[in-house]
Amino acid sequence: MRIFNSFSSVIDTFEPFQKNMARVFICGPTLYDYTHLGHARIFLTYDLLCRHLHERGYRTDVLVNMTDINQNVFNKAKDESKDYATIAKFYAQEFAKDLNLLNIKSINRLAYVSDYVDYMESHISELLNKKVAYYANGNVYLDTSKINTYGMLSKQSRAQLQLHRLDIGPSKKNQEDIMLWNCSEDFDFSWKSKFGKGIPWWHMQDTTVALENFGTNYDIHGGARELAYPHHEAHLAQYKMFSTDENPVKAWMYVGLVLSNGEKMSKSLGNVVWSRDLIQKYGQNLLRLYLFSTHYRKDVNFDENKIAEKKQLLEKIHLAGTKTSEKTDSEISKLVDDFLAALDDDLNSQKAIEIFENICSQIIAGSNISYRDFERICQVLGITT
Ligand SMILES: [Zn+2]
Repeated sequence: MRIFNSFSSVIDTFEPFQKNMARVFICGPTLYDYTHLGHARIFLTYDLLCRHLHERGYRTDVLVNMTDINQNVFNKAKDESKDYATIAKFYAQEFAKDLNLLNIKSINRLAYVSDYVDYMESHISELLNKKVAYYANGNVYLDTSKINTYGMLSKQSRAQLQLHRLDIGPSKKNQEDIMLWNCSEDFDFSWKSKFGKGIPWWHMQDTTVALENFGTNYDIHGGARELAYPHHEAHLAQYKMFSTDENPVKAWMYVGLVLSNGEKMSKSLGNVVWSRDLIQKYGQNLLRLYLFSTHYRKDVNFDENKIAEKKQLLEKIHLAGTKTSEKTDSEISKLVDDFLAALDDDLNSQKAIEIFENICSQIIAGSNISYRDFERICQVLGITT
């Protein structure tokens, strides 16, 4: 299997740290709303990856962090006069429901980041002891001048990194330094720590969740492309401080955006489509066929008509599924191999679906496929028949 690695900017052969085991960390939801189509695309992409890896004999261990230490969650709690934990728990349950509706079974670890605050505190202490972190203005920052690879993931030079107005504070050593613990702002909700009352900063939340679940290395970090900077750049810089591996994360694998009339689908722009609404209307099979018809690295411009258009293909799949035989003809066998080879090639689902459509046409025209081979393909795509 080969995957485009955003760190090296090339399609690398995927070689996990542990033989035949892929450990995947996906940046998960912020717990204040339901899953929209852009989020659904992300989780469906890694579900497809895992299903394909299973077909290729790998086991997977997939961790998703659920962010509940976040201003949006606090605001929602305030608006509804509830404790933030009540809000977070509610949306975590709704997230699990959405995953279930999407037929996503590959995620085996879901972590509330607030369960890890003690660990965050001890990790930050360790960074302070190692003198790669420092206090300034009551906050704790990572001294990025001590990390010579800082900027490599987002392909930025020091000069470029310094241009960002990020984690601003009056006594920062370097403009590009990132916050680890924030004591200087009032968030309405806060956690006690030896650094003072405040909140562990976003990137440190992920770093700790990853360290506590996977140890000092893992294979794939996933999420939306826009998370590369500052979020993943900061996470990687912090993570390296705890790892002896030069590259503690083997591959950075990003999913393109879902756009609505050319703009990013986001709550703040008010152009969000909820995945549960689409599933109710079209079913998860059509949603998968629609989203997988674009390569995962490309953006998708949302067009509801295009989901409906996939009905023809789904009917073809269902019809072909009623015509399975004892054995698979050799030319169909070759196409099944091509289908899997397309997914081996940086998860080229667009090509894989075209091949599957061709297979179905040939089965309907009288060629033979075994029930087992047909089911293998459906299982990889997550299509239920
Ligand atoms: Zn994250």
